[in-house]
Amino acid sequence: MADLMGSAGIYCCFKCRNQIACHGDIISKEFRGSHGRAFLFSHAMNIKEGAQEDRQLLSGLHRVSDVYCSDCGEELGWTYTKAFDETQKYKEGKFVLENFKIIVQSHFHPTDQL
Ligand SMILES: [Zn+2]
Repeated sequence: MADLMGSAGIYCCFKCRNQIACHGDIISKEFRGSHGRAFLFSHAMNIKEGAQEDRQLLSGLHRVSDVYCSDCGEELGWTYTKAFDETQKYKEGKFVLENFKIIVQSHFHPTDQL
């Protein structure tokens, strides 16, 4: 199945449309957020990080920081600062964004005719 959004999609804050992450930076769509489905991204932008804390998650103990939209301050998800389990190390420095807090926008319009 072709992905209609391609790699040009941008995920934005659902409140203020601040650009938060790129479709091409999605590592996994199979994450659980605190309110349902969430995506794991390798990068995020225009976000602020809260204080670090150790949190027991489904996949074990992690040191995480909540991440907030830099514009409107909405909490969007969290980032893994440190994973204590070797099998979870790949998450370090990555961002989990709650699915319902981000909306996708097509950043480029290659099919637009001038
Ligand atoms: Zn926002």
